[in-house]
Amino acid sequence: MSDDRPPVCNYDGSDYQTSFWEQGGRAYEDQVEAIALRRLLPPSGNLLLEIGAGAGRNTPRYQGFERVVLLDYSYTQLQQAQSRLGSSARFIYVAADAYRLPFVPALFEAATMIRTLHHMADAPRVLHQVRKVLQPGAVFILEYANKQNLKAVLRYALRRQSWSPFTLEPVEFAALNFDFHPRAVREWLQTAGFKIARQLTVSHYRMETLKRWVPLKLLVAMDSAAQLTGDWWQLSPSVFVKAQASDDGSLAKPGEFFCCPECGGYPLKEETQAQVCPNCSRRWLLRDGIYDFREAG
Ligand SMILES: [Zn+2]
Repeated sequence: MSDDRPPVCNYDGSDYQTSFWEQGGRAYEDQVEAIALRRLLPPSGNLLLEIGAGAGRNTPRYQGFERVVLLDYSYTQLQQAQSRLGSSARFIYVAADAYRLPFVPALFEAATMIRTLHHMADAPRVLHQVRKVLQPGAVFILEYANKQNLKAVLRYALRRQSWSPFTLEPVEFAALNFDFHPRAVREWLQTAGFKIARQLTVSHYRMETLKRWVPLKLLVAMDSAAQLTGDWWQLSPSVFVKAQASDDGSLAKPGEFFCCPECGGYPLKEETQAQVCPNCSRRWLLRDGIYDFREAG
C-alpha cells in the first residue's frame, strides 16, 4: 500500500501564515474567499472536516458547526492553529495524509478543501477519499487554482506561455503546485460521487497594480459581484465549487470516528495517548493535543 503513495507537499516548519497571508499583502484574497465561503457553506451543522487547514486561517469562518476537524499534513502548521484557536473540544487537530484519510466512512456532514488541491499530484484519488468519509448528501466545498484563467489565456495567445490553458490535464508550474481545468475538476467530482451544486469564480482582480491603486473595499465589492457569474464561465485564477455527495450509503455508527490509514481497520481502540488498530495493531499517537496519523508510533 505504501509503495504507490503520491508525493506529499509538507509545510512543516513553514512561516506560510505570516509571510504569505499576514505580511504578504493578501487582504484582498482573504476577504473574497470569506465571501465565497459564506455563500456556499451550510449555515449550521454538527461535524465539519477542513482538509489542508494549515494554521487555521479559515477555521473561525465555520462558526455554525459544533465541531471542526482540522486536518493537515504539517504538524507545525497545526501547532500554529492550536495556539491561535485554543484547545477547546470544538476543534480536533489531525496530522494526516489526505490520500489516506484516517476516518471511518460516512462520518462528516460537510468538508472544505481550500488552496489544497493545488498541491495534489493525484487529485481524483483525494476526491474519492473525501467522498468516502462524507455522509450521503453532505456538502463539499472545494477551491482549486484554475489553469484557464484570463492571464494564462492572454499569455498563451501572445505566445508568452508554452502550455495551453484549454486542455484538460493539470499544469505543474512549480514542484507540487498544480493548476487545473474547470471541466476536469467537475468530471473528477462527478466520478467520485458528487454532483455540482454551484460554482463561484474568485480573485478576479488578483493583480499587483489593481491591488495597489484600487481601494481594497471597492476591489472586494467588484469581486463579490463577479463571483456570481461562476456557473457560466470560469476565467478567474481561483474557483470555488459547492459539490453535494450522492444520497447512497449509510451513516457512520455513533462513537466510531478514526480508522487506520494503513490497513483501513476500525474502530480504533482508544488509549490515553494513542489510537490502536484492531486489525494490524499499529499505534497512532496523540501528542500535545494533535492526533498523528502520518507514521505509526
Ligand atoms: Zn491497521
